[in-house]
Amino acid sequence: MRIGVLALQGAFREHLDTLGAIGVEGVRVREPADLDGLSGLILPGGESTTMRGLIERWGLRQPIMDFADSGAPVFGTCAGMIVLSREIAGGEEPILPLLDVTVERNAFGRQLESFEADLDVDVLGGTPVHAVFIRAPIIERTGLGVDVLARLDDGRIVAVRERNIVATSFHPELAGETRFHRLVATMAAEHDDPGEGSGRRPHPTRRTRAR
Ligand code: GLN
Repeated sequence: MRIGVLALQGAFREHLDTLGAIGVEGVRVREPADLDGLSGLILPGGESTTMRGLIERWGLRQPIMDFADSGAPVFGTCAGMIVLSREIAGGEEPILPLLDVTVERNAFGRQLESFEADLDVDVLGGTPVHAVFIRAPIIERTGLGVDVLARLDDGRIVAVRERNIVATSFHPELAGETRFHRLVATMAAEHDDPGEGSGRRPHPTRRTRAR
């Protein structure tokens, strides 16, 4: 199995390292052809405005939308979460509107550039996730199909999943946390091989998207 990491800008090397740590081949994605044959895709942290420009310049917008529509998992961290959000508070145009949420960029303000927190994430089980937040966004609104995976103590939403799309406000790849990547690898394996005899079809919940 090969999982791509969008490698235009930002913290992509750490995601490649984390994939390596769980025995999954990570592939740098810089142009549409790099998506061929991948089982999943990770959008790293960085600067979403820069990523927006580079996604457009390299012609990656529609190819990534199509990749996600195929049902393969797409995982965004921090700026990657902003890139995936259907709505950006303040009225910026969405970039790859795959996740039915409203995101607020830089939600913790200038006085709090970065912080760390331990979060309970039930779907991952076990010990809390040590989460690193860097000029992080939060999720202000979730659509009906969106599962909340983690909240801060004050209730603010910092990790979500909607079908094959997973997003976190924080950077698991900067804290030696591998369980989100394992979750994505499991989703990718299920997408590649939906399982004979389970009665599942390849994309049972795939929804058609207006373009
Ligand atoms: N503040 C950045 C943005 O708005 C995200 C920061 C990050 O990815 N660590 O794009």
